[in-house]
Amino acid sequence: MKLIIVAAPGAGKGTQAEIISKHFGIPTISTGAILRHNIKEGTELGKIAQNYINDGKLVPDDIMIDIVRKRLTEDDCKNGFILDGFPRTLNQAEALDKSDINIDKVLTIEVEEEKIVERLSGRLECSSCGSSFHKIYRTPKVDGVCDNCGGSLRTRKDDQPDVIRDRLETYHKQTAPLKDFYEKKGILCVAEGKESIEDTTAEVLKALEN
Ligand code: AMP
Repeated sequence: MKLIIVAAPGAGKGTQAEIISKHFGIPTISTGAILRHNIKEGTELGKIAQNYINDGKLVPDDIMIDIVRKRLTEDDCKNGFILDGFPRTLNQAEALDKSDINIDKVLTIEVEEEKIVERLSGRLECSSCGSSFHKIYRTPKVDGVCDNCGGSLRTRKDDQPDVIRDRLETYHKQTAPLKDFYEKKGILCVAEGKESIEDTTAEVLKALEN
């Protein structure tokens, strides 16, 4: 299964990618997580990416295409993968199209804009392993502490209200058109985002079966 998830920030793509990755036994490649890891490590890529991310803008296509192209040649991707956060522009989608990788399905998770803002502003991220939690929808067992590694939880810089607005604008302008692109290819699967993570997973699995 070679799967892409295209959804607005806060629609639950990272959370659902993690769950379906276990379900199908294939890795999730999250371009956002790769960039955040590079920022944390202070690499050249991290230094470049930081300013774009903090402004709610997209990192340039050529950089992202290069990262994903390399990552997909690694051994663990042989039996399939889930791309979470790539492609995010038509340019990126076309570059993927031109490679010899055949994508089976593209999943989109539809969530109302109001809900998205509420979700993003309550989101918490582990400063150590990057796991995602939420003040209401996915509370950690111990307040402020990551269930997976014990690291401390914080709000992502790009989950501040003014950056959320910019990220949503970027999504509508640059990423949402990808849904049409993949619908025309006949591989788009639409799932309705629900209130709970479990109910959304049920919708996602149903959408992927069709
Ligand atoms: P995410 O964790 O997927 O919400 O990504 C966080 C941020 O990383 C985005 O708002 C972008 O600034 C950047 N980013 C992640 N993936 C891409 C991509 N495919 N193209 C450009 N920028 C990206």
